[in-house]
Amino acid sequence: MNPAPTTADGGADVLVVGGGIGGLSSAFALAREGLRVRVLERAQEFGEVGAGIQVAPNCTRILADYGLLDEAKGLGVLPENMVMRDALDGRELTRLDLRDLERRYGSPYMVIHRSDLHGIFLRACRRAGVELLTDRTVVEYEQTADGARVLLEDGGTEEASVVLAADGLHSVARRQLVGDAVVSSDYVAYRAAVPIGEVRTHGVAEQDVTVHVGPRCHFVQYALRGGEMFNQVAVFESPKARAGKKDWGTPDELDAAFVGTCDTVRKGIPLMWRDRWWQMLDRDPVDTWIHGRVALLGDAAHPPLQYMAQGAIMAIEDGWVLARHVARRLGGAGGLDWDAVLAAYQAVRVEHCRRVLNTARAWGELWHLDGTKRRQRNVFLRARDTYDYGFTDWVYGPTALEPDEEPEMFTAVPLASVRLPEAEGEETAV
Ligand SMILES: Cc1cc2nc3c(=O)[nH]c(=O)nc-3n(C[C@H](O)[C@H](O)[C@H](O)COP(=O)(O)OP(=O)(O)OC[C@H]3O[C@@H](n4cnc5c(N)ncnc54)[C@H](O)[C@@H]3O)c2cc1C
Repeated sequence: MNPAPTTADGGADVLVVGGGIGGLSSAFALAREGLRVRVLERAQEFGEVGAGIQVAPNCTRILADYGLLDEAKGLGVLPENMVMRDALDGRELTRLDLRDLERRYGSPYMVIHRSDLHGIFLRACRRAGVELLTDRTVVEYEQTADGARVLLEDGGTEEASVVLAADGLHSVARRQLVGDAVVSSDYVAYRAAVPIGEVRTHGVAEQDVTVHVGPRCHFVQYALRGGEMFNQVAVFESPKARAGKKDWGTPDELDAAFVGTCDTVRKGIPLMWRDRWWQMLDRDPVDTWIHGRVALLGDAAHPPLQYMAQGAIMAIEDGWVLARHVARRLGGAGGLDWDAVLAAYQAVRVEHCRRVLNTARAWGELWHLDGTKRRQRNVFLRARDTYDYGFTDWVYGPTALEPDEEPEMFTAVPLASVRLPEAEGEETAV
């Protein structure tokens, strides 16, 4: 570790607002460079709500760099394949061989309970000396002469050289500094993690991540916690949302959304948790994440629709990139040049995350197609070679530190150019 730069008041060098996966992983990354980091979390306790999370090689590579990958592997599962199936007839459309994928990218594809991943970063923060404060709700941000200040709901203030706003999709910082609105996709997610015994008769693939894609709905399944639990995510377009109703995505809509799907999917629906659901919201990408000495990070900067399974990963990458730029500039005369660090962070991360956000939206459209377009998609995906990495290199490769390290994007194929076999007629919608 590097010696800690000092601040005039003996306080923290960095304040991190929000103790989710983005906030904690960034706090750890910066503390590892010798900075004094304080996390301000509004909840009474640090924790995560939800079930499983997919962690692709661009993130397990960072966990390995942090010395946390073995712990994560011990708590998670390394699936063998990622298989996409049609949700109506259950037929396979395409797959990734995750063992081969690990060879290609030099790092595994992992699935893990999100509370386990969060717990790994919480323990790492404690070991690294991060100051972890709960029951601290930030209500406003201000610039100071040599840093930034936050105002707390209880009337207190905190200041540091830099403030990282990692306060999630409904970020107070984003509202104050950018002022944009969330964008509703009219889709909603239901989650469940159940003992594996409850799904063994459902025809599930315990070794795989399976994504069933269907008209206006999809269903994701994979094992968790060494295979003892099974994670399911059911996502569908809410008719109430389409009708402009305020209270949308409610459980009464869940069963109807999956009526026409294959056996494996339908058997999974009664197991979904019905006391909590997640409306699928994102935001349009923005170019400016740095406002003086306040930096947006994680979902506060780039909340995606979850179809690329890259939201938490992008947040973890943000912290890693920031810390690498700190490391490059530590030890210089005159102290750490935070303005240069923040500029370098913004220069490389904004474009990458814009690509993920836009691709996630397009990916969702592709998954949820109906009729002729669904058939064209299926023909296209079935023709894909399992070992063609043209669609994953841009995201699963090493995280770029400089804009010129960002890999080329794939070239999108217009579905209209996909010819259906003559024997295939129109498909009816569910
Ligand atoms: C159904 C679903 C499936 C997903 N699957 C995946 C996946 O497989 N892989 C993946 O990488 N991502 C996935 N994501 C996305 C991922 O969950 C998020 O992108 C990620 O959790 C964002 O982390 P964050 O720390 O930026 O924000 P959050 O997790 O929202 O954390 C923000 C924290 O800030 C705190 N906070 C908020 N406001 C304040 C305030 N004013 N003052 C102090 N503290 C505050 C909150 O209490 C919270 O602890 C999925 C999302 C959904 C909805």
